[in-house]
Parts: sequence; C-alpha cells; structure tokens
Amino acid sequence: MYTDKLFSAISILLLALTTTTLNVEAQLPGQWPPVDTPSPPVASWTALVDQTKLAKAPLRPAGTPCAPVDTFCIWSCTTCTRPESDFTHCPNKGDWALTYDDGPTQNTLKVLDALNTRGIKATFFAIGSRVIENPQILKQAVDSGHQIGVHTWLHTALTTQTTEEIIAEIKWTETAIKQAVGFTPKWFRPPQGDIDDRVRGILTQLGYKIANLES
Ligand SMILES: [Zn+2]
Repeated sequence: MYTDKLFSAISILLLALTTTTLNVEAQLPGQWPPVDTPSPPVASWTALVDQTKLAKAPLRPAGTPCAPVDTFCIWSCTTCTRPESDFTHCPNKGDWALTYDDGPTQNTLKVLDALNTRGIKATFFAIGSRVIENPQILKQAVDSGHQIGVHTWLHTALTTQTTEEIIAEIKWTETAIKQAVGFTPKWFRPPQGDIDDRVRGILTQLGYKIANLES
C-alpha cells in the first residue's frame, strides 16, 4: 500500500515536471515584447519607411467620426479599397481562398485537422503575441502546406496608431513568424479591416500585399 502511494506520488511528480518542460519548450525563444501589450518601436525598423511619401491621413482615435468626404480611403468609414494595393477577392471568378485570422491557438489545430483531411490549403493571418505562445502550431501549419500572413502583434485598429507604432506591430510579428517557421511573410491583414492610405503606404513600403475584407 505504501509502495503504491509512493509510485503514485512519483508519477505525479514526473508528470508535473514533463508538463513544465513542455510548456517552457513551447515558447518561442528570444527577447520579445510582453504578449498582448503594445509592441515598442525600433529605430532601425522605423527608418525602413520614408514617411515623407505617406499620405497625411490624421490619426483616428477610437470614436472619431467619419468625415463627409473619405479623402484617405478609410475602410472602416466607407469600406473603401484601393485596387492597386488591396486584395479583397480572387482575380478569377469562381476561385476561393480560405483565410483564418487571430491564431495560432489550440483551435488552429482543429482547423488544420479539418483542412488537411480534405486536402485544402489556406492562409493563416497570425498575431505576434500568439506566435510567441504557440510557435509549434504555426510550424505545423507550414509543414502541412499552408500559407502564413501578418495580423499585427496586438490586434489594434491601425488608423488609431502612429506610424512608428504600426511599423513595430508589423515588424515584431514578422520577426516572430520568421523565427517560428523560417521565412518572411509577404501578406498582411489589418485587424478589423481598419486601414487608410497612410497605413497602405507603410505596408507597401515594407513589401506587403494587403488581403482585406470585401467591401
Ligand atoms: Zn483579427
């Protein structure tokens, strides 16, 4: 009886140690901003964008009313899109492209299972804070043949943020994805579809194609 209890105690201890080890290994190694907080601007990243070429669209703090005339093509006001930079549908009629946002999380595994069973490929727009927590799930998506895009670090509406803050949201997430899966993503989806000509200019200068919601 005593021996049984001893073995039980040892088993529980080993299970706890294993679980702890797995959790530690699951985190993406490196120095990262705290998850789910604003990512700090980095001067060398800010310098990648020529701000003199950006549209002079004013920042739009939460609750800012929309102007009567949408000069800066603000999707959140008028669902305006720019065909030269925004992709909202496939070029060929009848084609579909499946996309999933806000992961990677444990739910991503269920989506991957459903897609892989059916031989369907999709694009996952990842949040940097989630990539740090679940890098192995993102890698699993890539290993199954799926595509990865950037969906910011914190999921904040971009037209509310300064240019330096937006660049940080993009580049911290891009760097995390590169470390997790081995390549630099080229597609971007703005959280909540929120984008204007200033944000488009930043993304275009950083080499991104914009996959936004349909108007
Ligand atoms: Zn989202």
